[in-house]
Amino acid sequence: MRTLLSLPIVLATATLSVSALAQDKVLNIYSARHYQTDEAMYETFTKTTGIKINRVDADDAGIVARLKAEGSASPADVVLLVDAARMAAADAQGLFQPIKSAKLDAAIPAHLRADPTKDGVTWTGFSTRARVIVYDPMRVKAADVATYEQLADPKLKGMFCTRSGSHPYNLSLFSTVIERLGDAKGESWLKGMVANMARAPKGGDTDQIKAVASGECGVALSNTYYIARLIKSAAPEDRAVMEKVRVVFPNQGTTGTHVNIAGAAVAKYAKNRDNAVAFMEYLASPFAQDYFANGNHEFAAAKGVKIDNPALRAMGGDRFKAEEIPLGVVAKNLVKVQQMLDRAGFK
Ligand code: FE
Repeated sequence: MRTLLSLPIVLATATLSVSALAQDKVLNIYSARHYQTDEAMYETFTKTTGIKINRVDADDAGIVARLKAEGSASPADVVLLVDAARMAAADAQGLFQPIKSAKLDAAIPAHLRADPTKDGVTWTGFSTRARVIVYDPMRVKAADVATYEQLADPKLKGMFCTRSGSHPYNLSLFSTVIERLGDAKGESWLKGMVANMARAPKGGDTDQIKAVASGECGVALSNTYYIARLIKSAAPEDRAVMEKVRVVFPNQGTTGTHVNIAGAAVAKYAKNRDNAVAFMEYLASPFAQDYFANGNHEFAAAKGVKIDNPALRAMGGDRFKAEEIPLGVVAKNLVKVQQMLDRAGFK
């Protein structure tokens, strides 16, 4: 496999047949991300490198199932998934391979990647989203929802709403909070949130925001991009929802707001490994970061890359302290957190 830089020399010497070359200029991506802006990002990679991208689009669970079914025959080179919990689960099933890349080491903060081993790093985050608290200012004071820990405070009895505790977004958040609090305090925190629920967990994050606006819930958890979508929505009723609620980036005075990732890894049986690594490095470039993050109202993961997104700015997303617990700990805690959720009756 040739590196991108050596390619012109290979062409000049013309020692390879066109078909042999063509076989090397391919990258097969399995993607759980489907945003229009991603297309421009893929096209630019192909224009710059000559590497043609074939893409399989499916949801996260579908991609993992497909990789497992295909085994060593899988054509997948790069796998794009959403959420560290999902990345960690796929990694634990042996679906990724570690890579060594000085470019990625320099560009992406270590806490947004899998824990490194002597063979390298498996998954890497390429955009971040914060998990924030949305509340009804008529019923709840900002000071009462300044931290995730306060979601378990009896002051919020009958007010808390969330999607399922077992959803990867919550598993990842709970995993890092429990890492900080320790197991005993962590489990009583989960129980406190259950005791505060306005209703049994159901729906997605957007449903929780709407339920806060309607008065059914007083406080809820949401990823920032769902809030941005409502702010940017063409539907007046969506923007009306956002006028009724407030957003808090929790734990600003302590450990920072929990952020999660959308990320990528090189597939275990990648046939075009060098192209896969080149694509991962491309994703860390300022150009790709802008498309990757902005396409879903997310924040850039690469150091020094700032993305100007008016909807994120409107909710304070341009000025918050993010938690820096390595997302690698999510993997370590997943099974334990699910068991705690079951004991706490957190559906
Ligand atoms: Fe989502």
